[in-house]
Amino acid sequence: MKKILVAILILGLIGVIGLNGVNKKIILSESEDIYCEVPLSVFSRYPAESFLIPIIILNKSETEKKITGIEFYKEDGTLILNKKIEEVVKGANIKISDDEIRNKIGLMIPDKEIVEKAMNLLEKAKILEKSDERNKKIESSWYLLTMNYKGKEIEDKEIRNLLPYFKILNYEITLEDLNIKIEPPDFINIKIKIIFLNPDNSTTSINKETTLFYLTSLPSQWGWYPGDGHMHTTYSDGGSTIMQRRDQAYNSGLKWIIITDHGWSYLINNWNQYKTDCTNAQNKTPNITVCPGEEIATSDTDSHYLSYKMDNCAPLLDHTYDRYGTIYWVIYNGLIGFIAHPYSTPYTWEDWYNYDAYINYDNSGPRGIELISGGYVISDTEIQDWDNFLKNHLSVTMKDSKHRFCVGLGNSDEHGYWPYLLYLGKKMTYIYTGSSSPPGTYRTGVYNAIERGYATASSDGSLLIHKITTGGTYLPGYYIKKSSAGSITINVYAKRVISQCDEATIKIVTIDGTLIDYISNQYEINKNYSIYVNRDIYVRAEITFYDSTNGYSYCFSNPIFIDFPPYGS
Ligand SMILES: [Zn+2]
Repeated sequence: MKKILVAILILGLIGVIGLNGVNKKIILSESEDIYCEVPLSVFSRYPAESFLIPIIILNKSETEKKITGIEFYKEDGTLILNKKIEEVVKGANIKISDDEIRNKIGLMIPDKEIVEKAMNLLEKAKILEKSDERNKKIESSWYLLTMNYKGKEIEDKEIRNLLPYFKILNYEITLEDLNIKIEPPDFINIKIKIIFLNPDNSTTSINKETTLFYLTSLPSQWGWYPGDGHMHTTYSDGGSTIMQRRDQAYNSGLKWIIITDHGWSYLINNWNQYKTDCTNAQNKTPNITVCPGEEIATSDTDSHYLSYKMDNCAPLLDHTYDRYGTIYWVIYNGLIGFIAHPYSTPYTWEDWYNYDAYINYDNSGPRGIELISGGYVISDTEIQDWDNFLKNHLSVTMKDSKHRFCVGLGNSDEHGYWPYLLYLGKKMTYIYTGSSSPPGTYRTGVYNAIERGYATASSDGSLLIHKITTGGTYLPGYYIKKSSAGSITINVYAKRVISQCDEATIKIVTIDGTLIDYISNQYEINKNYSIYVNRDIYVRAEITFYDSTNGYSYCFSNPIFIDFPPYGS
């Protein structure tokens, strides 16, 4: 049956510029026999010097097609990059819409209203001179276009059948290729033309458009470095190689990453190569730290454990032990373990602790949990589990020579069978290493900060640091001895990843209660609070930034522990 090619309001953007650049219309179109996905936007942060553009192609027709070239243009038609290629795309012979394909690969693109809002902001930014007003519009547009991509649970067998038919192409456009002066924050719209050769030697092309955002560096404070402790590569079910993950992380402003592929037999059998790939990626200059880790599936339903510090340890095959056994294995081997996405398992994560042998072996409790994981941010009620846990094991923390506790992290769990960045460079953890330069090739700096909880979890790159400044300076994860009851000063520094905020809510949480402060119209906050302490306690902080255009940002800093006599109990 012959179908008429219908333009449906779904796929990538094809911008049509009216004469003289007036009235830019957005037309979203779908081709009948080619699924081609390009992200609506790609971003890099200063000082990165390139943009990484993934293109996903699926040939829906019966017959194979040949791609002969990919061309990149500026909006005015200037050619940026012309890649002659020869790629054969097998015909998958499926008659389904692009949306159904997205469903199968678990990719949710931003709603049409959000895309339009973002495009309107860019149109307004275009006619403005460089100013705070223009910067805000650019940042908002970036935020809307990048934060609203989501992953979705998928049926494994559905994707497995389709997988061999996907063609994934990755291109890098450098600032030099663009041949324009670009100072962060700024943007440039580009057009991408994918050229197919027909059997009769004529060519057909598919046109896509994307926006390249060049952003300022992430918020920073001395000794603090953003990174990500959970992501997948081609060693298990990730769509990018270890080196590509390094490049993506570097371009997003991250200073360290931990690769955590699944404990499938492929990873077990190629462990040495995996570690070599991490080291090679880490040695690429400028250095960012690239650590080998593993995500271990326990034999319990949907219960995954992240294992770090694996430089000198062989990996564990998935489903070898139940969750108690897996924790024991991690501790026994001197590694650091975190419960992955603790709210998507059928067990309460506190239940993971209940293991006698483990307690006898090392009484410091599970190393931690993910407070933020992929598209998920812990809720107000769920975070009480963490508080209860910290409280119930407070004496264990005080006793432990390293004063370890259940550390909260924010990780991307970047996943999937495609090279799209759903969460990498967005969900992150800031760690404090106490050094003026980022960890670079020094992995121990990363492991130590994570193990001790010198860390803050962030849903989008916003930064939060709380410090106790009475009698010294004490950061998240620190332990203080205090001899007598009295007031302490807590300094809260926070900066949102975009330079706007209607209202920020700061919470300072202790065993004795929560102090809540609302602050209007500030995206950078530096404020002192005073609380009275008279018994063993911990103090942690949270911030929520909100504005009506972009929505919410969340940060959670790890607790500071205050010990009263008798110390160490
Ligand atoms: Zn994972």
